[in-house]
Amino acid sequence: MTIDRPDLADFTRVADQWLAARFDRVAQDGRRRFEWGVGPDEVRVFQEPDPAVEVDALPALRRWRRELCAGGYGWIDGPLEYGGAGLPAAYRRAFESLLRNYVVVGDGALTISLGMIAPTILRFGTEEQRRELLPAMYSGDAIACQLFSEPGAGSDLAAIGTRAVRDGDGWRITGQKVWTSGAHLADIGELIARTAVEPRHKNLTAFIVDMHAPGVEVRPLRQMTGGAAFNEVFLDNVFVSDDRRLGEVGAGWQIALTTLAHERNAMGNSSFGGAGILSTERFIGLIRSQDLQDDPAVRRDFGELVSHLRMARWTNEVMAARARSGAAPGPEIALNKIGLSDNMRRVGDFVGGVLGPAGVADAGEWGTFAWTSVALGAPGYRLGGGTDEIIRNTVAQRVLGLPRDDERAGKVAR
Ligand SMILES: Cc1cc2nc3c(=O)[nH]c(=O)nc-3n(C[C@H](O)[C@H](O)[C@H](O)COP(=O)(O)OP(=O)(O)OC[C@H]3O[C@@H](n4cnc5c(N)ncnc54)[C@H](O)[C@@H]3O)c2cc1C
Repeated sequence: MTIDRPDLADFTRVADQWLAARFDRVAQDGRRRFEWGVGPDEVRVFQEPDPAVEVDALPALRRWRRELCAGGYGWIDGPLEYGGAGLPAAYRRAFESLLRNYVVVGDGALTISLGMIAPTILRFGTEEQRRELLPAMYSGDAIACQLFSEPGAGSDLAAIGTRAVRDGDGWRITGQKVWTSGAHLADIGELIARTAVEPRHKNLTAFIVDMHAPGVEVRPLRQMTGGAAFNEVFLDNVFVSDDRRLGEVGAGWQIALTTLAHERNAMGNSSFGGAGILSTERFIGLIRSQDLQDDPAVRRDFGELVSHLRMARWTNEVMAARARSGAAPGPEIALNKIGLSDNMRRVGDFVGGVLGPAGVADAGEWGTFAWTSVALGAPGYRLGGGTDEIIRNTVAQRVLGLPRDDERAGKVAR
Protein backbone atom coordinates (compact mmCIF):
# COMPACT_ATOMS: atom_id res chain seq x y z
CA MET A 1 0.00 0.00 0.00
CA THR A 2 1.37 3.45 -0.83
CA ILE A 3 0.99 6.11 1.79
CA ASP A 4 1.01 9.84 1.56
CA ARG A 5 4.18 10.53 3.56
CA PRO A 6 4.66 14.09 4.74
CA ASP A 7 8.10 15.64 4.83
CA LEU A 8 9.62 15.14 8.34
CA ALA A 9 9.86 18.91 8.94
CA ASP A 10 6.20 19.40 7.93
CA PHE A 11 5.15 16.47 10.10
CA THR A 12 7.00 17.96 13.09
CA ARG A 13 5.50 21.42 12.54
CA VAL A 14 1.93 20.09 12.26
CA ALA A 15 2.42 17.76 15.24
CA ASP A 16 3.70 20.67 17.35
CA GLN A 17 0.60 22.72 16.43
CA TRP A 18 -1.60 19.74 17.29
CA LEU A 19 0.04 19.39 20.72
CA ALA A 20 0.00 23.15 21.40
CA ALA A 21 -3.76 23.25 20.72
CA ARG A 22 -4.38 20.60 23.37
CA PHE A 23 -1.71 20.69 26.09
CA ASP A 24 0.14 23.25 28.17
CA ARG A 25 3.80 23.84 27.47
CA VAL A 26 6.31 22.77 30.12
CA ALA A 27 7.75 25.84 31.83
CA GLN A 28 11.21 27.14 30.83
CA ASP A 29 10.90 26.01 27.25
CA GLY A 30 10.78 22.32 28.09
CA ARG A 31 13.91 22.08 30.22
CA ARG A 32 13.09 21.12 33.75
CA ARG A 33 16.16 22.29 35.63
CA PHE A 34 16.72 20.94 39.05
CA GLU A 35 16.79 23.32 42.03
CA TRP A 36 17.64 22.03 45.49
CA GLY A 37 14.72 22.23 47.93
CA VAL A 38 12.16 23.06 45.22
CA GLY A 39 9.44 20.71 43.99
CA PRO A 40 8.40 17.29 45.21
CA ASP A 41 10.87 15.61 47.53
CA GLU A 42 10.82 12.34 45.62
CA VAL A 43 13.60 10.29 44.03
CA ARG A 44 12.68 6.87 42.74
CA VAL A 45 14.26 4.14 40.65
CA PHE A 46 10.84 2.70 39.84
CA GLN A 47 7.64 4.68 39.75
CA GLU A 48 5.57 3.03 42.46
CA PRO A 49 2.35 4.90 43.06
CA ASP A 50 -0.25 3.37 45.33
CA PRO A 51 -1.98 0.67 43.20
CA ALA A 52 -5.39 2.20 44.03
CA VAL A 53 -4.15 5.61 42.78
CA GLU A 54 -2.86 3.93 39.61
CA VAL A 55 -6.24 2.32 38.98
CA ASP A 56 -7.96 5.69 39.52
CA ALA A 57 -5.57 7.24 36.98
CA LEU A 58 -6.52 4.74 34.26
CA PRO A 59 -9.39 6.77 32.74
CA ALA A 60 -7.03 9.75 32.22
CA LEU A 61 -4.40 7.45 30.68
CA ARG A 62 -7.01 6.01 28.31
CA ARG A 63 -8.31 9.45 27.36
CA TRP A 64 -4.73 10.50 26.55
CA ARG A 65 -4.08 7.41 24.42
CA ARG A 66 -7.39 7.74 22.56
CA GLU A 67 -6.71 11.39 21.82
CA LEU A 68 -3.26 10.48 20.48
CA CYS A 69 -4.76 7.74 18.29
CA ALA A 70 -7.51 10.05 17.00
CA GLY A 71 -4.81 12.55 15.98
CA GLY A 72 -2.82 9.84 14.18
CA TYR A 73 0.01 9.94 16.74
CA GLY A 74 -0.85 6.80 18.75
CA TRP A 75 1.44 4.44 16.83
CA ILE A 76 3.38 6.56 14.40
CA ASP A 77 5.67 3.82 13.07
CA GLY A 78 3.06 1.03 13.16
CA PRO A 79 1.55 -0.63 10.07
CA LEU A 80 -1.56 1.11 8.69
CA GLU A 81 -3.59 -2.12 8.69
CA TYR A 82 -3.23 -2.46 12.48
CA GLY A 83 -3.98 1.14 13.38
CA GLY A 84 -0.51 2.63 12.93
CA ALA A 85 0.39 5.68 10.83
CA GLY A 86 2.82 3.73 8.64
CA LEU A 87 5.66 6.27 9.04
CA PRO A 88 9.36 5.58 9.66
CA ALA A 89 10.75 5.46 13.22
CA ALA A 90 12.36 8.90 12.73
CA TYR A 91 8.84 10.43 12.78
CA ARG A 92 8.07 8.70 16.06
CA ARG A 93 11.33 9.95 17.57
CA ALA A 94 10.57 13.48 16.36
CA PHE A 95 7.14 13.32 18.02
CA GLU A 96 8.66 11.97 21.26
CA SER A 97 11.07 14.92 21.31
CA LEU A 98 8.16 17.32 20.91
CA LEU A 99 6.24 15.63 23.71
CA ARG A 100 8.94 16.59 26.22
CA ASN A 101 7.84 20.21 25.76
CA TYR A 102 4.26 19.57 26.86
CA VAL A 103 2.49 18.64 30.06
CA VAL A 104 0.94 15.29 29.09
CA VAL A 105 -0.17 12.12 30.88
CA GLY A 106 2.57 10.06 29.23
CA ASP A 107 2.91 6.32 28.66
CA GLY A 108 4.84 5.29 31.79
CA ALA A 109 2.19 2.72 32.77
CA LEU A 110 2.27 1.22 29.25
CA THR A 111 5.98 0.34 29.00
CA ILE A 112 5.34 -3.41 29.16
CA SER A 113 2.19 -3.24 27.07
CA LEU A 114 3.55 -1.20 24.16
CA GLY A 115 7.30 -1.72 24.58
CA MET A 116 7.30 -5.51 24.96
CA ILE A 117 4.00 -7.30 24.34
CA ALA A 118 2.71 -5.34 21.32
CA PRO A 119 5.91 -5.94 19.26
CA THR A 120 5.67 -9.65 20.11
CA ILE A 121 2.04 -9.83 18.93
CA LEU A 122 2.99 -7.89 15.79
CA ARG A 123 5.63 -10.51 15.04
CA PHE A 124 3.93 -13.76 16.10
CA GLY A 125 0.20 -12.98 16.23
CA THR A 126 -2.33 -14.21 13.68
CA GLU A 127 -3.84 -11.63 11.34
CA GLU A 128 -7.00 -11.65 13.48
CA GLN A 129 -5.05 -11.17 16.73
CA ARG A 130 -3.10 -8.25 15.29
CA ARG A 131 -6.22 -6.53 13.96
CA GLU A 132 -8.11 -7.01 17.22
CA LEU A 133 -5.43 -6.56 19.87
CA LEU A 134 -2.95 -3.99 18.54
CA PRO A 135 -5.37 -1.06 18.03
CA ALA A 136 -6.88 -1.82 21.47
CA MET A 137 -3.42 -1.84 23.06
CA TYR A 138 -2.35 1.44 21.46
CA SER A 139 -5.61 3.15 22.47
CA GLY A 140 -5.04 1.99 26.07
CA ASP A 141 -8.21 -0.16 26.05
CA ALA A 142 -6.23 -3.38 26.46
CA ILE A 143 -3.29 -2.97 28.85
CA ALA A 144 -0.98 -5.98 28.87
CA CYS A 145 1.34 -7.59 31.43
CA GLN A 146 4.06 -10.23 31.12
CA LEU A 147 3.24 -13.56 32.82
CA PHE A 148 6.58 -15.40 32.60
CA SER A 149 8.31 -15.72 36.00
CA GLU A 150 7.29 -18.38 38.46
CA PRO A 151 8.58 -19.23 41.94
CA GLY A 152 10.81 -21.94 40.40
CA ALA A 153 11.34 -20.39 36.96
CA GLY A 154 12.95 -16.96 36.72
CA SER A 155 16.30 -17.13 34.95
CA ASP A 156 15.49 -20.73 34.09
CA LEU A 157 12.30 -20.13 32.15
CA ALA A 158 12.28 -23.63 30.71
CA ALA A 159 11.46 -24.89 34.23
CA ILE A 160 7.96 -23.36 34.04
CA GLY A 161 5.36 -25.40 35.90
CA THR A 162 2.14 -23.64 34.79
CA ARG A 163 0.30 -26.16 32.61
CA ALA A 164 -2.03 -25.61 29.66
CA VAL A 165 -4.13 -28.66 28.79
CA ARG A 166 -6.33 -29.00 25.68
CA ASP A 167 -10.07 -28.64 26.34
CA GLY A 168 -12.29 -28.66 23.24
CA ASP A 169 -11.63 -25.52 21.18
CA GLY A 170 -9.32 -24.10 23.83
CA TRP A 171 -7.04 -24.72 26.76
CA ARG A 172 -7.31 -24.93 30.55
CA ILE A 173 -4.45 -23.16 32.31
CA THR A 174 -3.45 -23.79 35.93
CA GLY A 175 -0.40 -22.52 37.79
CA GLN A 176 1.23 -19.56 39.53
CA LYS A 177 3.16 -16.57 38.18
CA VAL A 178 5.16 -14.11 40.24
CA TRP A 179 6.74 -10.62 40.02
CA THR A 180 4.10 -9.68 37.44
CA SER A 181 4.56 -5.91 37.09
CA GLY A 182 1.33 -4.03 36.50
CA ALA A 183 -0.92 -7.13 36.63
CA HIS A 184 -3.33 -5.08 38.77
CA LEU A 185 -3.84 -2.70 35.82
CA ALA A 186 -3.77 -5.27 33.03
CA ASP A 187 -6.63 -6.46 30.81
CA ILE A 188 -4.58 -9.11 29.02
CA GLY A 189 -1.32 -10.96 29.71
CA GLU A 190 1.26 -12.72 27.57
CA LEU A 191 1.61 -16.04 29.36
CA ILE A 192 4.04 -18.89 28.81
CA ALA A 193 2.81 -22.33 29.85
CA ARG A 194 3.96 -25.91 29.50
CA THR A 195 1.89 -27.81 26.94
CA ALA A 196 3.89 -31.05 26.84
CA VAL A 197 6.21 -32.87 29.18
CA GLU A 198 9.36 -33.15 27.05
CA PRO A 199 11.60 -32.07 25.36
CA ARG A 200 12.71 -28.99 27.27
CA HIS A 201 12.44 -25.68 25.31
CA LYS A 202 9.99 -27.26 22.82
CA ASN A 203 7.22 -27.91 25.33
CA LEU A 204 6.27 -24.30 25.99
CA THR A 205 3.44 -22.39 24.33
CA ALA A 206 2.49 -18.71 24.53
CA PHE A 207 -1.07 -17.45 25.13
CA ILE A 208 -2.84 -14.13 25.44
CA VAL A 209 -4.87 -14.50 28.62
CA ASP A 210 -7.85 -12.33 29.61
CA MET A 211 -6.85 -11.01 33.05
CA HIS A 212 -10.55 -10.58 33.95
CA ALA A 213 -11.43 -14.23 33.15
CA PRO A 214 -12.81 -16.52 35.89
CA GLY A 215 -9.97 -18.30 37.69
CA VAL A 216 -7.43 -15.43 37.40
CA GLU A 217 -6.48 -13.97 40.79
CA VAL A 218 -4.02 -11.07 41.19
CA ARG A 219 -2.43 -10.50 44.62
CA PRO A 220 -0.14 -7.51 45.23
CA LEU A 221 3.42 -8.03 46.53
CA ARG A 222 4.81 -5.29 48.78
CA GLN A 223 8.46 -4.49 48.02
CA MET A 224 11.10 -3.26 50.48
CA THR A 225 10.78 0.20 48.87
CA GLY A 226 7.23 0.29 50.24
CA GLY A 227 5.65 0.17 46.77
CA ALA A 228 3.53 -2.65 45.35
CA ALA A 229 4.20 -2.45 41.63
CA PHE A 230 4.19 -6.16 41.06
CA ASN A 231 2.01 -9.12 41.94
CA GLU A 232 1.52 -12.82 42.27
CA VAL A 233 -0.97 -14.17 39.72
CA PHE A 234 -2.80 -17.42 40.37
CA LEU A 235 -4.48 -19.25 37.49
CA ASP A 236 -7.03 -21.86 38.43
CA ASN A 237 -8.36 -23.83 35.44
CA VAL A 238 -8.59 -20.64 33.37
CA PHE A 239 -10.15 -21.23 29.93
CA VAL A 240 -8.31 -19.67 26.98
CA SER A 241 -9.74 -20.28 23.51
CA ASP A 242 -7.31 -21.58 20.93
CA ASP A 243 -7.60 -18.38 18.89
CA ARG A 244 -5.80 -16.67 21.82
CA ARG A 245 -2.79 -18.98 21.46
CA LEU A 246 0.18 -16.87 20.35
CA GLY A 247 2.25 -18.70 17.76
CA GLU A 248 2.50 -22.44 17.24
CA VAL A 249 2.10 -25.03 19.96
CA GLY A 250 5.62 -25.60 21.31
CA ALA A 251 6.97 -22.25 20.02
CA GLY A 252 6.70 -20.47 23.39
CA TRP A 253 10.45 -20.42 23.97
CA GLN A 254 11.21 -18.36 20.86
CA ILE A 255 8.28 -16.05 21.58
CA ALA A 256 9.45 -15.49 25.17
CA LEU A 257 12.98 -14.66 23.96
CA THR A 258 11.56 -12.06 21.58
CA THR A 259 9.62 -10.35 24.38
CA LEU A 260 12.71 -10.45 26.60
CA ALA A 261 14.87 -8.89 23.90
CA HIS A 262 12.40 -5.99 23.74
CA GLU A 263 12.42 -5.79 27.56
CA ARG A 264 16.20 -5.53 27.73
CA ASN A 265 16.20 -2.92 25.04
CA ALA A 266 13.54 -0.89 26.89
CA MET A 267 15.42 -1.13 30.21
CA GLY A 268 18.84 -0.39 28.73
CA ASN A 269 17.40 2.66 27.04
CA SER A 270 15.87 3.99 30.23
CA SER A 271 16.82 7.53 31.02
CA PHE A 272 16.76 9.09 34.44
CA GLY A 273 18.19 12.38 33.20
CA GLY A 274 16.83 15.91 33.41
CA ALA A 275 15.55 16.66 36.86
CA GLY A 276 15.44 12.92 37.61
CA ILE A 277 17.61 11.00 40.00
CA LEU A 278 20.71 11.01 37.79
CA SER A 279 20.93 14.79 37.71
CA THR A 280 24.38 16.18 38.46
CA GLU A 281 22.76 19.28 39.99
CA ARG A 282 20.83 17.08 42.42
CA PHE A 283 24.02 15.31 43.55
CA ILE A 284 25.81 18.63 44.01
CA GLY A 285 22.84 19.93 46.01
CA LEU A 286 22.96 16.79 48.13
CA ILE A 287 26.69 17.14 48.84
CA ARG A 288 26.25 20.83 49.77
CA SER A 289 23.25 20.04 51.97
CA GLN A 290 25.57 17.89 54.10
CA ASP A 291 28.40 20.49 53.88
CA LEU A 292 30.75 17.91 52.31
CA GLN A 293 31.83 19.87 49.21
CA ASP A 294 35.43 20.07 50.48
CA ASP A 295 35.69 16.47 51.61
CA PRO A 296 38.37 14.81 49.38
CA ALA A 297 36.81 11.32 49.55
CA VAL A 298 33.38 12.67 48.59
CA ARG A 299 34.91 14.71 45.74
CA ARG A 300 36.72 11.63 44.41
CA ASP A 301 33.62 9.40 44.65
CA PHE A 302 31.49 12.09 42.99
CA GLY A 303 33.96 12.34 40.09
CA GLU A 304 33.86 8.58 39.62
CA LEU A 305 30.09 8.49 39.75
CA VAL A 306 29.67 11.26 37.19
CA SER A 307 32.20 9.56 34.87
CA HIS A 308 30.20 6.33 34.91
CA LEU A 309 26.94 8.19 34.28
CA ARG A 310 28.49 10.04 31.34
CA MET A 311 29.83 6.79 29.84
CA ALA A 312 26.36 5.27 30.07
CA ARG A 313 24.88 8.28 28.30
CA TRP A 314 27.45 8.07 25.51
CA THR A 315 26.78 4.33 25.05
CA ASN A 316 23.10 5.21 24.72
CA GLU A 317 23.99 7.77 22.07
CA VAL A 318 26.01 5.16 20.15
CA MET A 319 22.97 2.87 20.22
CA ALA A 320 20.64 5.62 19.05
CA ALA A 321 23.03 6.52 16.21
CA ARG A 322 23.20 2.86 15.12
CA ALA A 323 19.40 2.66 15.15
CA ARG A 324 19.11 5.87 13.10
CA SER A 325 21.52 4.51 10.49
CA GLY A 326 19.44 1.32 10.21
CA ALA A 327 22.20 -0.93 11.63
CA ALA A 328 21.19 -3.97 13.70
CA PRO A 329 21.56 -3.51 17.45
CA GLY A 330 25.00 -4.58 18.71
CA PRO A 331 26.19 -5.97 22.04
CA GLU A 332 25.83 -2.52 23.59
CA ILE A 333 22.16 -3.39 24.25
CA ALA A 334 23.25 -5.96 26.85
CA LEU A 335 26.09 -3.76 28.10
CA ASN A 336 23.71 -0.85 28.51
CA LYS A 337 21.45 -2.82 30.78
CA ILE A 338 24.40 -4.00 32.91
CA GLY A 339 25.77 -0.44 32.93
CA LEU A 340 22.45 0.90 34.12
CA SER A 341 22.12 -1.57 37.01
CA ASP A 342 25.76 -0.95 38.01
CA ASN A 343 25.11 2.78 37.97
CA MET A 344 22.00 2.38 40.10
CA ARG A 345 24.10 0.55 42.69
CA ARG A 346 26.82 3.23 42.47
CA VAL A 347 24.22 5.96 43.05
CA GLY A 348 22.84 4.09 46.09
CA ASP A 349 26.35 3.59 47.53
CA PHE A 350 27.38 7.20 46.90
CA VAL A 351 24.24 8.71 48.38
CA GLY A 352 24.42 6.37 51.38
CA GLY A 353 28.02 7.50 51.99
CA VAL A 354 27.12 11.20 51.75
CA LEU A 355 24.01 10.97 53.90
CA GLY A 356 25.14 8.52 56.56
CA PRO A 357 22.50 8.34 59.30
CA ALA A 358 20.46 11.12 57.63
CA GLY A 359 19.54 8.57 54.97
CA VAL A 360 18.00 6.05 57.31
CA ALA A 361 15.90 8.20 59.66
CA ASP A 362 13.21 10.53 58.34
CA ALA A 363 13.87 13.84 60.12
CA GLY A 364 11.73 15.76 57.61
CA GLU A 365 14.77 17.28 55.86
CA TRP A 366 14.19 17.86 52.11
CA GLY A 367 16.23 15.65 49.80
CA THR A 368 17.62 13.25 52.40
CA PHE A 369 15.41 10.38 53.57
CA ALA A 370 13.72 10.26 50.12
CA TRP A 371 16.89 8.59 48.79
CA THR A 372 16.16 5.38 50.69
CA SER A 373 13.79 4.36 47.88
CA VAL A 374 16.73 4.56 45.44
CA ALA A 375 19.06 2.54 47.66
CA LEU A 376 16.33 -0.07 48.19
CA GLY A 377 15.02 -0.04 44.62
CA ALA A 378 18.40 -0.29 42.84
CA PRO A 379 18.85 -4.06 43.40
CA GLY A 380 15.65 -4.65 41.40
CA TYR A 381 17.43 -3.32 38.33
CA ARG A 382 19.95 -6.15 38.63
CA LEU A 383 17.10 -8.67 38.28
CA GLY A 384 14.36 -7.32 36.01
CA GLY A 385 14.78 -8.05 32.30
CA GLY A 386 17.33 -10.77 33.06
CA THR A 387 19.75 -10.77 35.97
CA ASP A 388 23.20 -9.25 35.51
CA GLU A 389 24.78 -12.71 35.82
CA ILE A 390 22.59 -14.14 33.06
CA ILE A 391 23.27 -11.16 30.76
CA ARG A 392 27.01 -11.45 31.43
CA ASN A 393 26.77 -15.12 30.44
CA THR A 394 25.02 -14.08 27.23
CA VAL A 395 27.70 -11.51 26.42
CA ALA A 396 30.43 -14.07 27.20
CA GLN A 397 28.90 -16.71 24.95
CA ARG A 398 27.26 -14.79 22.10
CA VAL A 399 29.51 -11.73 21.84
CA LEU A 400 32.91 -12.96 23.03
CA GLY A 401 32.40 -16.53 21.76
CA LEU A 402 33.41 -18.14 25.05
CA PRO A 403 32.31 -21.75 25.55
CA ARG A 404 28.93 -22.48 27.09
CA ASP A 405 28.75 -23.80 30.59
CA ASP A 406 27.20 -27.23 29.89
CA GLU A 407 25.93 -27.54 33.39
CA ARG A 408 23.85 -24.41 32.85
CA ALA A 409 23.10 -24.91 29.15
CA GLY A 410 19.38 -25.18 29.88
CA LYS A 411 19.11 -21.77 31.54
CA VAL A 412 17.50 -19.11 29.42
CA ALA A 413 19.05 -15.69 29.15
CA ARG A 414 16.17 -13.87 30.81
C1 LIG B 1 11.38 -4.82 39.16
C2 LIG B 1 11.12 -6.17 38.58
C3 LIG B 1 10.05 -6.34 37.71
C4 LIG B 1 9.76 -7.59 37.18
N1 LIG B 1 8.68 -7.73 36.35
C5 LIG B 1 8.38 -8.95 35.85
C6 LIG B 1 7.22 -9.11 35.02
O1 LIG B 1 6.48 -8.16 34.74
N2 LIG B 1 6.93 -10.34 34.55
C7 LIG B 1 7.71 -11.42 34.82
O2 LIG B 1 7.40 -12.50 34.33
N3 LIG B 1 8.82 -11.31 35.63
C8 LIG B 1 9.15 -10.09 36.15
N4 LIG B 1 10.26 -9.95 36.98
C9 LIG B 1 11.01 -11.16 37.35
C10 LIG B 1 12.39 -11.22 36.78
O3 LIG B 1 12.36 -11.43 35.41
C11 LIG B 1 13.09 -12.36 37.54
O4 LIG B 1 13.29 -11.89 38.86
C12 LIG B 1 14.40 -12.73 36.93
O5 LIG B 1 14.17 -13.43 35.75
C13 LIG B 1 15.25 -13.59 37.86
O6 LIG B 1 14.58 -14.74 38.25
P1 LIG B 1 14.50 -15.18 39.80
O7 LIG B 1 14.10 -13.98 40.60
O8 LIG B 1 13.66 -16.41 39.86
O9 LIG B 1 16.00 -15.52 40.22
P2 LIG B 1 16.80 -16.87 39.93
O10 LIG B 1 16.66 -17.24 38.50
O11 LIG B 1 16.39 -17.89 40.95
O12 LIG B 1 18.28 -16.41 40.17
C14 LIG B 1 18.84 -16.28 41.48
C15 LIG B 1 20.31 -15.85 41.33
O13 LIG B 1 21.05 -16.90 40.67
C16 LIG B 1 21.69 -16.38 39.51
N5 LIG B 1 21.70 -17.37 38.42
C17 LIG B 1 20.64 -18.15 38.02
N6 LIG B 1 20.99 -18.90 36.95
C18 LIG B 1 22.29 -18.57 36.65
C19 LIG B 1 23.22 -18.98 35.65
N7 LIG B 1 22.89 -19.87 34.72
N8 LIG B 1 24.46 -18.42 35.66
C20 LIG B 1 24.82 -17.50 36.61
N9 LIG B 1 23.99 -17.07 37.59
C21 LIG B 1 22.75 -17.60 37.60
C22 LIG B 1 20.85 -15.19 39.10
O14 LIG B 1 21.57 -14.29 38.30
C23 LIG B 1 20.48 -14.59 40.46
O15 LIG B 1 21.50 -13.79 40.97
C24 LIG B 1 10.56 -8.71 37.52
C25 LIG B 1 11.64 -8.55 38.40
C26 LIG B 1 11.91 -7.30 38.94
C27 LIG B 1 13.06 -7.17 39.89
